[in-house]
This record gives sequence, C-alpha cells and structure tokens, in this order.
Amino acid sequence: MKAMVLKEVLPIEKEPLEMIDLPDPAPGPKEILVKVCACGVCHTELDEIEGRIQPRLPIVLGHEVVGKVKSLGSESRKFNLGDRVGIAWINSACGKCYFCQKGNENLCREFKATGCHVNGGYAQYTVVSEDFAYLIPERFSDSEAAPLLCAGAIGYRDLRLSGMKSGQTLGLFGFGASAHIVIQLAKYWGYEVFVFTRSEEHRNLAKKLGASWTGGSDDEPPKKLHCAIDFTPVGETVPTALKFLEKGGRLVIAVIRKRNPIPPMDYAQLLWEEKEMKSVANITREDVQDFLPLAAKIPIISEVQEFELREANKALILLKQGKIQGAGVLRMPD
Ligand SMILES: [Zn+2]
Ligand SMILES: [Zn+2]
Repeated sequence: MKAMVLKEVLPIEKEPLEMIDLPDPAPGPKEILVKVCACGVCHTELDEIEGRIQPRLPIVLGHEVVGKVKSLGSESRKFNLGDRVGIAWINSACGKCYFCQKGNENLCREFKATGCHVNGGYAQYTVVSEDFAYLIPERFSDSEAAPLLCAGAIGYRDLRLSGMKSGQTLGLFGFGASAHIVIQLAKYWGYEVFVFTRSEEHRNLAKKLGASWTGGSDDEPPKKLHCAIDFTPVGETVPTALKFLEKGGRLVIAVIRKRNPIPPMDYAQLLWEEKEMKSVANITREDVQDFLPLAAKIPIISEVQEFELREANKALILLKQGKIQGAGVLRMPD
C-alpha cells in the first residue's frame, strides 16, 4: 500500500512526510482491516511532526479516518464487510486502571493514540480493534465525515467540559477545523457565540455559521464571556481569554500543546473571582459514539478542503499558516 510516513522530527516546511510502499497490514483476531477513503488533517499532527509531542517513529500519521471494512480478524464480529467506519484518536485504553474504571479512558495510564503510537490513516489501509471503530452516519460523504472524528468529537468534549447553559455567551479563540464545527453545535444548543481570530476569511466563515460578533484576538467583545474555548497554538490567547471572562467563568484550552509559553499572568486581574481554567486531553469512545448521531441530526456541515494523499505536506503547511477554511482532508488513491 501507499502511505505517507514520518521518519524523523522536522519543521513541516522541510516536507518530512515521504510517500512509501508498505506491506498491507493484517488484522489481528479482534481487529478489522479498513480500506481508507479519506483522512482528516489535524493540528496535533503538526505537534508530532515538529516534536512537541513524541510519536513512535517511523509512523503513519492520521487519526480522522473514514473507510470501508475490507476484511475481518478471526474473532471479529461487530462489523460486516463493506461497512463504512471511522477511526478516531483513541486507539486503545487498558480498561482496568483507575481512570478507565471511572469512565475517563481518555486519561488511561496506557492510552495509545492512532497515528502516534500505532499507524493511522495517511495510507490506503489501516487496522483497528473493532471496539475502537464507529459506524459513520449515511448522510455524510467520506470527506465530510472525516473531520467529525477529531475536530468534531473533541469539540463536542470541549463544549461539554465548558459547563455552558442555553442563553449564555461563548467565546471561541481561533477558528479552524474544530471551532467551525463547535459553533454549529453551540448554536444548536442555544448559546450566543463570539469568535476571535486574526484571519478575515475565518471571520467571514464564522459569521456565515452564526457568530453574533467577530473580532481580532485582542478586540473587546460586546459582552463578558461565560465560557471561552481556546483553539489557538499560541500562549498569548490565554490571558486575553481570561480577561474577557465573566466572574465564575471558565476557560477551556482545547489544544494538546502550545507552540510558545503562556505569558506571566496577574492573579487579581485575570484569575480571581472564581474564574477557572481547564485543559482537554484526548477523547473517549463515548464522545465519538454520542457525537456522530447528533452531528447527523443537527446536521453539522463540515467545510472541507480536499488534498491528494501525496499532498499531505502541503496541506499541513497551509494548516500551520492558518490558510485552510474549515477542515483539510486527504483523499486516498484507489
Ligand atoms: Zn486531531
Ligand atoms: Zn486504563
């Protein structure tokens, strides 16, 4: 099979992903072999490529995978051949540790991530445990479905962790793949949404999707925020978001790594009055299972920019430059 492989940590501008022929993977007893149709491009992949988080090397990246079940392992019973399934960031969790027992398998001591600790979807084929694959609702095309598996499902987790209630104000900092899905969910749940982003194209998309106000990252919104979600890779948005929070408000930081440090913060001005900060780590199967049918019901429409698999470096460079509208998705060759 053809796969785009990362062999060493380098800046994405050096185009480190290489198209390589690999043997087709074989499913283990409880696994399925998936012929990949589309795979989303995620900011976390930039963190892996550039060394802010450490993948196993060499690695096939990609954790927003949509494809067809091509063959079944000897003890695999959950899916039929030809079913269209999705694979997300959670590749496995032990099921036994304190966190797994408490329903927080995203924090499992042995958490393994797709396209980081095991090969992912930047390839024509991949294998996954049948317990960590999900049926894709029919109403979505392959490319529309791919971003739902991370940008969407993690966005759903962000919003649940935000503690927001109908009628409250939500600030979104950064407006990439995840935020453009979160705003659709937030509007569906009756929140008023303000969007902070430097990009004029992103502000236009935010208005189209129902933002009642948009501005640059330092512009003052018309009302205080009950909650803010920070999707940006930079540290400076943290004090900015805290400054605009209402008393008792919560800031949810939705990224796995920041590219630069959070600046020193004045406690009295930014954190006192019971403001909270919370990060989001990984995802549970329940997040994905709950979100996919909800996305079909609303329905959430992903704005997608498609690339060929061999263009993965280019797609990631554009992502780093903030030049993708909505979500980038790789199409696999037949
Ligand atoms: Zn992701
Ligand atoms: Zn565990």
